[in-house]
Amino acid sequence: MPDAAAPYFCVVCGEGVDAKMSAECNWCDGRFHLNQRNDVDAKDCGQVWIDEQYLALQFACDHCRASEDAPSPPTPITPPRKRSTMARPRQRKYKRRA
Ligand SMILES: [Zn+2]
Ligand SMILES: [Zn+2]
Repeated sequence: MPDAAAPYFCVVCGEGVDAKMSAECNWCDGRFHLNQRNDVDAKDCGQVWIDEQYLALQFACDHCRASEDAPSPPTPITPPRKRSTMARPRQRKYKRRA
């Protein structure tokens, strides 16, 4: 049953995911877990980086990153969604280590 709070399903892990905590892959158009916030701890099933040529954000799920069609991200970045986070070094403060 779809969770009301998780209207999408991640193409990588198959778990439900909220729109705010996910992104659409530029290669397969699939929805995948992407933590777009620095103040919460959430899973990432893909990556986002800036395309240096077009200066555009590129989203790729782990499936496509593992395939040869997608370029390997040169520098993984934290998406500049919030201006307040841009000046900070890119690190996840609350990253738990299993
Ligand atoms: Zn996932
Ligand atoms: Zn994909």
